Amino acid sequence: MQRTEVVIVGAGFAGLAAASEFKAAGIDFRLLEARDRVGGRVEGAYNGLGEKVDLGGQFFCEDMPGVMALAKQYGKTLVTTPFEGDSLLQPASHGRHDIEEAYAGAAALRRRMRAIDPADPAITGLTASAWAERQEATPEARHMFLSMIEGLWCKPAEEIPFWYVASNDRRITNKVSELQYFAGETLHSLAEDMARSLGSSVETGQPVERIAWGGGGVTIEACSRTYQARHAILAVPPVMARKIAFEPGLPPSLRGALAAWESGTVVKSFLRYPSAFWRRKGLSGSVLWLDRRGLYVCDASLDDDHAMLVAFAGGPVATQWMADGEGMLRQQLLSRLVPALGPEAAEPLDFICRDWSGDRWSGGGYSDDIMDMAAGDAEDVLRSGLANVSFACSELSPSFPSYVEGAISIGRLQARAVIARFSATAEADALQNPAGK
Ligand SMILES: Cc1cc2nc3c(=O)[nH]c(=O)nc-3n(C[C@H](O)[C@H](O)[C@H](O)COP(=O)(O)OP(=O)(O)OC[C@H]3O[C@@H](n4cnc5c(N)ncnc54)[C@H](O)[C@@H]3O)c2cc1C
Repeated sequence: MQRTEVVIVGAGFAGLAAASEFKAAGIDFRLLEARDRVGGRVEGAYNGLGEKVDLGGQFFCEDMPGVMALAKQYGKTLVTTPFEGDSLLQPASHGRHDIEEAYAGAAALRRRMRAIDPADPAITGLTASAWAERQEATPEARHMFLSMIEGLWCKPAEEIPFWYVASNDRRITNKVSELQYFAGETLHSLAEDMARSLGSSVETGQPVERIAWGGGGVTIEACSRTYQARHAILAVPPVMARKIAFEPGLPPSLRGALAAWESGTVVKSFLRYPSAFWRRKGLSGSVLWLDRRGLYVCDASLDDDHAMLVAFAGGPVATQWMADGEGMLRQQLLSRLVPALGPEAAEPLDFICRDWSGDRWSGGGYSDDIMDMAAGDAEDVLRSGLANVSFACSELSPSFPSYVEGAISIGRLQARAVIARFSATAEADALQNPAGK
């Protein structure tokens, strides 16, 4: 058995941000990661040119101070996501101009949702779609709103509790588009840089299976390591935390809080083309479909020589289109892109897709979601954790939950709380034993 002060479980951005705090405070720690790479839901892969792209978290904006500062610190190139030109609403009968109206209507619904207190008894038991049905809005605006719900939370709008979406959305406070920037070198390379700066304290290929807690500390068992520590931070999504065995078992409140979550489903695809042909037609490359919720495509070209579209399929569309494998998803996507952007869309040079649904170490979507109508306190209970075990995934963040920014923010918050507790204990010990005996 090895000893350290703190064990952090999970080397996604939450775990990496927490570990950086301990490093800065001079506190010994280990960061244990199940996969053979760091980054978690931020993952890189190579396209046909051998260039790295982000198959998970990628985009961020100037209203996200944590990612912006880290991108600057590690010298990442900020690429402005190209949006010039007309965006399309499909099928074609809805034309180029209707999209502005539908966007405005969906944005109005979103503002109305954000203004609602998640604890308001008037919304008790409502799903997102049940709430939307009660609102005065055009069918296009309502569809676009529900498409956004499924695209962002990756669960069916008919099932996801409205209070949860409302509570989450009011913490997503960006004024500019969340797709404003991506990193030329990938966001995944930022995770790798952070891990490198932490040195040998980061251990990959170490899934944590069991945590014994209570009394003076915690014992953390990974597949080939056992650590004894004063504190553990679980920087894994709630559904993954549920898979870890706790001894003694967790108190009922924490067990209930973990049980409230389910993973979403999402597939992200990149289509590389010889040129950004849509721009010649005055199109931005952004397309939304009125007959399919949770589907969105936009231009993610690095520059004119690297023309790329990125496609997101979130919620039921992800599982339906992957039912027969990647070929079906590709065919579905291309058959919709051709009428929207033109025949050139039929022949991408590469097609890369990453299905996150049921992912072994992340669970599924951009995030886990609370799917229990009555679990209004689940996040608070998890954020409070146990005396020597904290929970720190992006889902629990007070700002930008389920974004990389949220992961950085909660990782830092939980680490700082532990550091403050350690120094309070050290001060109390010094008072009790001024001679240091
Ligand atoms: C397709 C996709 C696109 C996205 N796009 C964006 C975007 O553009 N912008 C944005 O801001 N966000 C985006 N997100 C969301 C963002 O990636 C996540 O919110 C964020 O990365 C979560 O970070 P985390 O550290 O909380 O969790 P994770 O990244 O999930 O990290 C948890 C880590 O814990 C590890 N782990 C799990 N169980 C164990 C165990 N038992 N023992 C040891 N290790 C374990 C996992 O392997 C993982 O590395 C996207 C997500 C996906 C899937």
